[in-house]
Amino acid sequence: MRFNPKADISGGDASGSRGGGGGGLGGLGGGGGLGGLPIPGGFGIKGTIVIIVLYVILQMCTGGGLPGPSLGQGGSGSNSATDNGDYANCKTGADANKSRVCERKAIMLSLEVFWKGQLGSQFQPADLRTFSGQIQTGCGAASAQMGPFYCSADGHIYEDPSFYSSMLEQIGGNDAPFVEPYVLAHEFGHHIQDITGEMKNVRTQQGADSDSVKLELEADCYAGVWAKGAIGTDDGKGQKIFESITDQDIQDAIEAARAVGDDSIQKKTQGSVNPDSWTHGSSEQRMKWFQTGYQGGVDSCRAIWG
Ligand SMILES: [Zn+2]
Repeated sequence: MRFNPKADISGGDASGSRGGGGGGLGGLGGGGGLGGLPIPGGFGIKGTIVIIVLYVILQMCTGGGLPGPSLGQGGSGSNSATDNGDYANCKTGADANKSRVCERKAIMLSLEVFWKGQLGSQFQPADLRTFSGQIQTGCGAASAQMGPFYCSADGHIYEDPSFYSSMLEQIGGNDAPFVEPYVLAHEFGHHIQDITGEMKNVRTQQGADSDSVKLELEADCYAGVWAKGAIGTDDGKGQKIFESITDQDIQDAIEAARAVGDDSIQKKTQGSVNPDSWTHGSSEQRMKWFQTGYQGGVDSCRAIWG
């Protein structure tokens, strides 16, 4: 993956605010909690959170988190938390080629441009909020242990950037260049499902045949749709955002989809596989649906609802 050095990524604000923070804690009712972490109580209701790696939470919820929220804390390393100021310094694709922070902003810009083109006037932007340790969200308090997630109550994507070098590697993934774009595209996929109302399709939360798994696989499919279309996205000023997205990048995204499959995570963390508690789908399914979207476009994703 390489960005077009001439692309203008100065507009927008990857961690800027949208609205007043959304619907608060109300929608989490019924979900209970696990070690103080908000666990989704039902998709399609205000306050729902969608988590990419639930089992990581189950295994790693041992407390000892950093004091937070720490949005606004400047980052010094490539994987540190970032603040608005850091994103504000990201002006061009050349910056995105040099800096992980700016890369994140360029990816979000591409996602926004791409989905705006797909949805037209129905589209609404989603913000990315990066944090370290813990953060207050429209869906309640969140911790880095949850992995990246989308909160429908405030329409934001949340991510502790250290996820890629810590938890993801612990469950057998790696931090290849196109892995974070895949994850952000998956979370953006949930935002699209929120806009289109597909999130409301979810009635059953757990199990290999559950609606939750379908929702997650569709988000992987949407990530694949974007991965194919991203190369065509432009900055609105006549410059393409990307210079190249390679076959290796796509392979890296597929490999990440494998790593975050429920069966793979269960094997790593519990030593056995229990499809009845799946929420996101198997490694094979996640790889398959990413590729389905990549090859077939948006309509191929919607086939998941049968
Ligand atoms: Zn998800």
